[in-house]
Amino acid sequence: MAESAVVVEGLSLTYRTRARDVVALSDVDLQIARGSFVSLIGPSGCGKSTLLRILGDLLAPSQGRVQINGGPARAARSARRTGFVFQEPALLEWRTILDNVALPLELHGMARAERVARARELLELVGLTGFEAAAPRQLSGGMRQRAAIARALSTRPDLLLLDEPFGALDQITRDRLNMELARIHEQTGVTVVLVTHSIREAVLLSDRVVVMTPRPGRIDCILENPLPRPRSLETRDHPGFEPLVRAGNHALEKGYGHA
Ligand code: ADP
Ligand code: MG
Repeated sequence: MAESAVVVEGLSLTYRTRARDVVALSDVDLQIARGSFVSLIGPSGCGKSTLLRILGDLLAPSQGRVQINGGPARAARSARRTGFVFQEPALLEWRTILDNVALPLELHGMARAERVARARELLELVGLTGFEAAAPRQLSGGMRQRAAIARALSTRPDLLLLDEPFGALDQITRDRLNMELARIHEQTGVTVVLVTHSIREAVLLSDRVVVMTPRPGRIDCILENPLPRPRSLETRDHPGFEPLVRAGNHALEKGYGHA
């Protein structure tokens, strides 16, 4: 079997605050195959962002082991093999869109001509050709999020972590960005872990949907999604789609039950 992109074993994380300790994750085991698309869903506070931050080495676990493509999460992050997209695109307002997308390459020490060429390619990939010289504030919410995705992909990561990236967008923009993400996943072969509140979005895009429950955060179940690829908005009309959404909703409601 090919090496997994992500291996998580016995993972726990407790936030120690002055008031009290919060067990955000308890004994989480998870394996994610290379090149697959996995979504994390669950009620708010069940530890989705915490898990994503640990995968990206933005946070160290209290217990357990994390391996990213066969090595420590730290190594993947320092080699910029892990890309991040958050709900707020967090673009630098004083830089053009092109220079925002090229920023990780600049930090990586890539020469200007080379990073400009790479940033242009990425802007094309996310449908932002023509907006190279624009300032972030001149772009719509959906376009800003596209730029954030391009920036996250700039260093050709093999793991892309997205934390509710489309939550603030209207439905039509969200549908479009879902399809862009599906296409980027197919084209680049990057392994994707997406945190979302939308079970429909999770089913539409993923190979597996990981359902989490809170207090403490655990994996409740994993739904396998065998719907054919490439995915498109028509995937929602496939006879297998609604049953998966129902199964996801059912698992989620159970989770809310003991929340
Ligand atoms: P989710 O992303 O699923 O909404 P989080 O991973 O953000 O959940 O949070 C999981 C739990 O940990 C919640 O109870 C939250 O209040 C708590 N938590 C998150 N970040 C911190 C922090 N920095 N300090 C203390 N508690 C935190
Ligand atoms: Mg969160």
